[in-house]
Amino acid sequence: MTDLYRRLQQHLDKQPIGFPSTESGVELDLLKYFFTEAEAEVVLCLGLTHSRLWRIRRRFVRAHGRDIDEGALGEILERLWSKGSIRRSTRSPYGYSVAFLAIGMFEFHVDDLTPELMRLMHEYFDAGFKDEFFKGMLPQLRTSPHLKAIVPEHRIDTYDNMRHYVEHTDQKIGVANCVCKQGEALLGRPCTQVDDIEVCVFFGESDYVERGRGRYITRQECLDLLDTAEKKGLVLQPGNSLQAFCICLCCGCCCGVLTAARKFDKPAGLFATNYFATIDATACNGCGVCVKRCQMDALALDRERRTVWLDPDRCIGCGLCVTTCRPGAAKLQKKEHVTVPPRNLEMLYLAILAKKAGKARMLLNLLKLAAGARL
Ligand code: SF4
Ligand code: SF4
Ligand code: SF4
Repeated sequence: MTDLYRRLQQHLDKQPIGFPSTESGVELDLLKYFFTEAEAEVVLCLGLTHSRLWRIRRRFVRAHGRDIDEGALGEILERLWSKGSIRRSTRSPYGYSVAFLAIGMFEFHVDDLTPELMRLMHEYFDAGFKDEFFKGMLPQLRTSPHLKAIVPEHRIDTYDNMRHYVEHTDQKIGVANCVCKQGEALLGRPCTQVDDIEVCVFFGESDYVERGRGRYITRQECLDLLDTAEKKGLVLQPGNSLQAFCICLCCGCCCGVLTAARKFDKPAGLFATNYFATIDATACNGCGVCVKRCQMDALALDRERRTVWLDPDRCIGCGLCVTTCRPGAAKLQKKEHVTVPPRNLEMLYLAILAKKAGKARMLLNLLKLAAGARL
């Protein structure tokens, strides 16, 4: 049985966001949490891109040396999708593919979390998954500044302007509970910044809604959420593509991304951001408001000199310190070299895979995908 889960771990580890092994073997406990043996056998036959039932069945025969009834296979796949453990295409006839652990299985289990899952997630993040999550220079989320923090001299690109994005998108807009905040509350550590945790914004036809774990909202409701995020001190983290697939509104107390990143010495380098903050010591009155607003521990109050010190290696350019600095001492600066995100979600994951696998291997992967093989 362990062999089956080890094979599944190795299979999932080949995906753009992998599933690395650890010394403790906690990754196998997580897989056993998500999948029964029969389900694990099926997930072994799924790839990065959606595959239809007949193709998954053919792979099943090859992988396990026995056939499976198409009805039974379909039932397992639908069950896995409705639990949030795999992905499914939006239109019937459905295709199915693997889900990464994060962003993926964990987020899709919102409203169905248990203390056991949260314990395993924390253990796995610390034992190895956080290194996988932050590996490479192309994160799944980027940090966009709060618009109020931008001075008119800085032309803000539309992919960094979430208000503009929400005002102009022709996709459906939806919202779900924030899985990080919900999970921490389950462990007795409720979010200290917001009471209403329905703050995970997503765009397009959504599995969240189909699974009954999210709802569509109006453009105005979404803009109001962005305002709330600024007031309550939440970092805007949209999906890292020109066509953003989500906007996470993240707090430093619960967010898995921010809390894990803070454990690194120089977390700023792990984020895709085009901005950074500076403090004008001559204008600063040492009120300390910005220190409380910063979710990255990038600011430290110097009471004697009545000013604050900023650690540029921790600043992710979110702008939260800027919007509440009355004397205007905290300012957001645009980086000299800006990073433009990939076009869409598919390009993002192909680019992550290319960095992970190397160019030669990537070419092979593309040929495999074109031939309908699984990755
Ligand atoms: S990444 Fe941020 S918004 Fe998304 S689930 Fe975590 S805390 Fe919530
Ligand atoms: S909020 Fe502004 S004035 Fe107050 S400590 Fe921070 S930089 Fe200084
Ligand atoms: S100092 Fe902190 S609050 Fe200010 S932009 Fe940097 S990360 Fe955000």
